[in-house]
Amino acid sequence: MAEHKANDQAVLVIGGGIAGIQTSLDLAETGITVHLVEREPTIGGHMAMFDKTFPTLDCSACILTPKMTTVGSHPNINLMTYSEVENIQGGPGAYEVTVRRKAAFVDHDKCTGCGLCMEKCPYRTLSEFDQGLAKRKAIYMPFPQAVPNKPVIDAKRCAWFKPPKKPGGKRRCGVCVKVCEPGAIDFEQKARTEKYKVSAVVVTTGFQAMDPSLIPQLGYGKYPEVYSALEFERLNNAAGPTGGAVQTKDGRSPKSVAILHCTGSRDENYHRYCSRVCCMYALKYAHLIKEKVEGCQVFNFYIDMRCFGKGYEEFYKRLQHEGVKFIRGKAAQVWSGEHFKHLVAPDMLPEELSDEQLVVIAEDTLMGDMVRVPVDMVVLTPAFESRADSGDVAQLLGLARNEDGFFIEKSEKFSPVSTGNNGIFIAGGCSGPKDIPDTVAQGSAAASKVLSFLESAEAKSA
Ligand SMILES: Cc1cc2nc3c(=O)[nH]c(=O)nc-3n(C[C@H](O)[C@H](O)[C@H](O)COP(=O)(O)OP(=O)(O)OC[C@H]3O[C@@H](n4cnc5c(N)ncnc54)[C@H](O)[C@@H]3O)c2cc1C
Ligand code: SF4
Ligand code: SF4
Repeated sequence: MAEHKANDQAVLVIGGGIAGIQTSLDLAETGITVHLVEREPTIGGHMAMFDKTFPTLDCSACILTPKMTTVGSHPNINLMTYSEVENIQGGPGAYEVTVRRKAAFVDHDKCTGCGLCMEKCPYRTLSEFDQGLAKRKAIYMPFPQAVPNKPVIDAKRCAWFKPPKKPGGKRRCGVCVKVCEPGAIDFEQKARTEKYKVSAVVVTTGFQAMDPSLIPQLGYGKYPEVYSALEFERLNNAAGPTGGAVQTKDGRSPKSVAILHCTGSRDENYHRYCSRVCCMYALKYAHLIKEKVEGCQVFNFYIDMRCFGKGYEEFYKRLQHEGVKFIRGKAAQVWSGEHFKHLVAPDMLPEELSDEQLVVIAEDTLMGDMVRVPVDMVVLTPAFESRADSGDVAQLLGLARNEDGFFIEKSEKFSPVSTGNNGIFIAGGCSGPKDIPDTVAQGSAAASKVLSFLESAEAKSA
């Protein structure tokens, strides 16, 4: 167990999405030591998956990657990826934190990030980062701009960790060991713990997207052309599985796409709250499809349009002029054309419906009519949820959660990044659905609140 001595002005940040990145950079710039703990092999969080961000359509990687790189090289930031906070003791101004560093089986001090091991590794599995739409190797970085830009070995997929075919026989594979010139592969590497003393903690653990297969009537997991929003982000991404081409699984350009708002949000059966970002990214998708797929018809099914932010309403207006068809009504059901043909009388069938197409059924609440729209692809917008393990984090840190599992602020209006515990702060998606501008604002707010706290009598006397 390594024992590290931080200075009196050290802060722990948990979660390396855009919220944690912003907090860490703001604090580090003032000379504070930041210990940033990220569970995955890279920082970046959800934003790293996006191609463009609403409403300005900025290239996500272009604005995020420089910040990630600065975090990775900042002299005041101790970045610990592939790590988790195991224990925390003490109180405001004087915490002792135990961080568990998972075994990467690659010595990152020796690794040059050349990538040869990943190129030559013969074992593949589905890429979590690409939402299972592409494959990655057993030794991998989630994406090429990962920070740190060094691979980890997934022991569950790596042949070396499988027992030899015969007892006492040779280990399988080991290709990466052969090609790695600096000798960075270390199959003996063990998980280890490190201890740090910090004065304050900022929790930026973010959110998860709801599993859309929990709403079986929308056909996710049943029909291959029904996509979740994160799948569509990767499909549309220039660095994604199709090089950014919006196409069906068999490589066709869709002639029509339906985007269904509020998948599991504002719904008594799932989440009563509004996920706040889905209307806007649904509009972003409509624009991107129109831009990329010539002649494609795009239908947005919405309850009502929530375009609350700066430039958001203007973006919505712009799309109305781009020819997107807006249908006011929540989609109730998605059927395949093949199924649908057996369900209704021939005169109720949409014209030119093929077996491979999908039919979206909704009530158009403006027209007071049921609509049946045949499309080639459906994109769902799953609810912005608290993470499944947010209860564990809350227990570890003594945080309160609301009925939806999000961390509770000290005061929603006046102390939105403080908690009931004076030394612990929260920012970003972990306290509720938020877009990137609000998340970044909260990241900076948490940093400034930490600075005030470090100057307080409570922190100084701890
Ligand atoms: C499909 C989709 C599209 C979107 N498009 C846009 C857009 O175009 N524009 C826009 O403004 N907003 C958009 N958003 C919203 C945006 O994703 C969020 O505002 C933003 O990602 C929130 O950042 P965060 O850092 O709070 O959380 P996250 O991005 O979720 O990052 C949290 C990080 O914490 C890590 N972590 C979690 N738990 C732990 C733990 N216990 N220990 C250590 N690390 C942990 C995670 O691995 C992750 O890296 C979109 C959201 C979705 C779902
Ligand atoms: S071959 Fe070795 S040095 Fe190159 S990326 Fe892989 S582990 Fe690192
Ligand atoms: S031992 Fe083989 S399977 Fe395992 S990471 Fe190295 S090259 Fe890949």
